[in-house]
This record gives sequence, C-alpha cells and structure tokens, in this order.
Amino acid sequence: MNLNRLYLTKNECYRAGQIITPKGIMVHSTGANNPHLKRYVGPDDGKLGENVYRNHWNQARPDGRQVCVHAFIGRLADGSIATYQTLPWNYRAWHSGGTANNTHISFEICEDDLTDSVYFNAVYKEAVELCIYLCDKFGLDPENIVDHSEGCKLGVASNHKDVMHWFPRHGKSMDTFRADVLDGLGLRRFYRVQVGAFREKVNAEKMLAEVKMAGFKDAFIKFE
Ligand SMILES: [Zn+2]
Repeated sequence: MNLNRLYLTKNECYRAGQIITPKGIMVHSTGANNPHLKRYVGPDDGKLGENVYRNHWNQARPDGRQVCVHAFIGRLADGSIATYQTLPWNYRAWHSGGTANNTHISFEICEDDLTDSVYFNAVYKEAVELCIYLCDKFGLDPENIVDHSEGCKLGVASNHKDVMHWFPRHGKSMDTFRADVLDGLGLRRFYRVQVGAFREKVNAEKMLAEVKMAGFKDAFIKFE
C-alpha cells in the first residue's frame, strides 16, 4: 500500500469534526470515469498533479454536495496507484446517505471506464491492503466490510450500486474482497493477551473500560 495523507480541511465535513468509533468499513467507487486522485484530492502536493479545474473535494461543498470520505484510491500524476487519507479515521464522514456514517470508515476507489483489468487489479489490491491495515488498527472484523450496495440492503446506506457494478466484471466480488482481507490478516501473527472472558456483554464492557483506563488504548472485545 502506498498510503499518503492530505486532510480535506476546507470540507464542511472535516470542519464539523464529529468523532465516531469505527465498527466497519464501507467501500465505494466514484461512479465517474476519472481514475486520477487529483480530481478529488488537492491541492497538489507534488505527487498528485495539479487539478486545473479546482473541483477537488478540499472545499466546503464539493460539486455543491455535503460529501466527504476518509480516503481515496486512484492514480498519481506519474500513473502509479496510491491511497490518500483525507479525514482522520475516527471522524464522521458523509459517504453513505444513511446511518453507516456513524459507524463505518469509508473510502472511494476512483473509477476508470471499468474495462481495464490492469488498473482494476491494482486498485483492488490497494483497497485490500488498506482494509487489512484498518482492521488491524481498529480491531475490526473483516465481516463488517461492506460496499455501498450491501449497505443499502442492510438499511444503513442510500440506494447506490457501487462497487458491485464493477468488481464482477473482473472476477471479483465483496465476498472475494472480504476473503482476501481475512487471508491478509491471517498471515500476520500477534501475541495477544486475554484479560477476561464473560457470558454477559455488560461485564466485558466494564472490563474493557478498566483496561483502557489503565492505558491499553488498543484493547477490544471479541465475541466467539
Ligand atoms: Zn457509494
């Protein structure tokens, strides 16, 4: 993964600065044939290239809309693929048109004309790696990675088709995506320390609060 950071500080969403506790990830794609990150991320940092139209999302309301996501995946000026983090991961983004905004980290994959398998495979790999990174960082269950279309079926997002109008054209789906993230996580090994096991959730939450108070900020609850 080629992870960069350029916060969209002029976007109303960034300025709202609402904090969430991430529970999952929602995968989007832009719905427009423009694979260049500079369309959405700016100003130019020397790698993005200049957006001469100045219509990137580092403005109050991009294209007149209240929208913002945590990251974009697409092309740099030199044609290589990169991820740009555009909001702090625990900010509430405006991406789903539903309650997933309160719970899900979100990113957009810049679409091309949807036919180029080389581009698709590169951005798919980048997206898998981003999700592995985020699942690690926030203790997220890869089963809680959904695309916008699945979010709609779950009743937590508006009625959009991304990304399942695109992935199947290249032999992929959200099921392969989640499986690839799981595989990636399985390759990594951690020495984890368990501090309790409870039948009742409330007791687990109490213990988690105590552990966090003691300074272990990355502590989490797992139900199995
Ligand atoms: Zn979407």
